[in-house]
Amino acid sequence: MDDLDEWIWCGHCKRVSLRREWKQSAHAGSVAYQRPDDRQCPYEACGKSLHSQGHPYLLMRENIPEWPETPERGVVYDSPQLIRMVVCELH
Ligand SMILES: [Zn+2]
Repeated sequence: MDDLDEWIWCGHCKRVSLRREWKQSAHAGSVAYQRPDDRQCPYEACGKSLHSQGHPYLLMRENIPEWPETPERGVVYDSPQLIRMVVCELH
């Protein structure tokens, strides 16, 4: 599925954003695992690859029912006991 309005959870910074918000890679090809169509996590100081770290939020939530039905930007979704707010800015 390639729904641009799908929530994607980043396995590195553990925050969510819509698939459409993931940035087109500015240096595709410079990193071995990146693909030409790859995107990068939009959160500052993250920028991990969608292909390596992006996971559909809904699939994650199937295993973690404590997570809200609709996630919020900037919230770190970690283990259910460790959900905490962080201050961050989308680029
Ligand atoms: Zn990230």
